[in-house]
Amino acid sequence: MLKPDAVVRGLAGRIIQRFEDASLKIVGMKMREIDADFTRKHYFDLEERTGPVVYNATAAFMQRGPVIAFVVEGEDAVATVRKMVGSTYPNEAQPGSIRGDFAHQTKTVAVATGKAVANLVHASGNREEAEYEVGLWFDKTELFEYRSQAEAFDW
Ligand code: ADP
Repeated sequence: MLKPDAVVRGLAGRIIQRFEDASLKIVGMKMREIDADFTRKHYFDLEERTGPVVYNATAAFMQRGPVIAFVVEGEDAVATVRKMVGSTYPNEAQPGSIRGDFAHQTKTVAVATGKAVANLVHASGNREEAEYEVGLWFDKTELFEYRSQAEAFDW
C-alpha cells in the first residue's frame, strides 16, 4: 500500500513500476482514505508492539490523505515485496530499496519529534498477514484473475 506521503509526493507510478518490473502481477488496486477505525483494523497489533505514542502518530499520518492499496501475486511474493520495500527506518533501508531510494528519515528523529516515520509503503510481513490484509482492503469482486505475459511466455 502506498502511504499518503508516496501519493502527495507523486511517486505512485514510479513505485508501482518497480513491482511490475520485478514480474509481480497486479491483481487488484484502489485509492481510498482510511478513518481511525479502519486504521486500527489495519495496524491491529502496532500499539501493542510499539506503544501508544508511535501508534497515535502513525494513525494520524495514515489519515492525512488518500492511500493506494494494491495486491500483487508472484513466486515468494511477500518476501520479495518486503525486500524491495526495505527496512522500516529509511536510514537503515538499503540503497536500491524503495524506502532507501526515496525516503530519508531516522528512528532517532522520529522518536524525538513524536512523528511517524514517513516511509512511503506498507507491505505485509508474512503470508498470514497478507491474507488478513487482502481480506480487509478488498472485496472478492475487486480481485482479478488473468494470465500475465510473463506467465504466458513459458520458457
Ligand atoms: P513496517 O511498516 O516496516 O512493517 P511496523 O509494522 O513495525 O513496520 O510499523 C508500522 C509503521 O509504523 C511503520 O512503517 C512506520 O510508518 C511507523 N512506525 C513504526 N515504528 C515507529 C517509530 N519508532 N517511530 C515512528 N513511526 C514508527
